[in-house]
Amino acid sequence: MHQAIDIEQLCHDRGLRITEQRRVIARVLSESVDHPDVEKLHERASAIDPGISIATVYRTVRLFEEAGILDRHDFGDGRARYEAAPEAHHDHLIDVETGKVVEFVDPELEALQRQIAERLGYRLVDHRMELYGVRIDRED
Ligand SMILES: [Zn+2]
Repeated sequence: MHQAIDIEQLCHDRGLRITEQRRVIARVLSESVDHPDVEKLHERASAIDPGISIATVYRTVRLFEEAGILDRHDFGDGRARYEAAPEAHHDHLIDVETGKVVEFVDPELEALQRQIAERLGYRLVDHRMELYGVRIDRED
């Protein structure tokens, strides 16, 4: 599902001016598989270029998000988390103890959601599904 999306290429396609710092942030985002928040992105980007401020990361993710390059998620902890807008749809399961995010796709669930929308008189164009769980093998 995380088929290393080339964010820099997407910026180019959408006519976004790509500065050196934006390039670094785009690269960090492209390589991230864990839905990082801004602080984590800043940590990784400033390891490559110490001149990158957290304000620049904030501005850049907002810019990328507005351009449709990034998806923003809120997984219930109040922190915005980001991933490169996936080419193929997937949903998320969040481990409430560790914050780990697991991606999944379920064709039956997709179909059911379309059916529910139709029953209510709508054609489904988008949805968000977030499951929150605790690992069974950690419960006692
Ligand atoms: Zn995801």
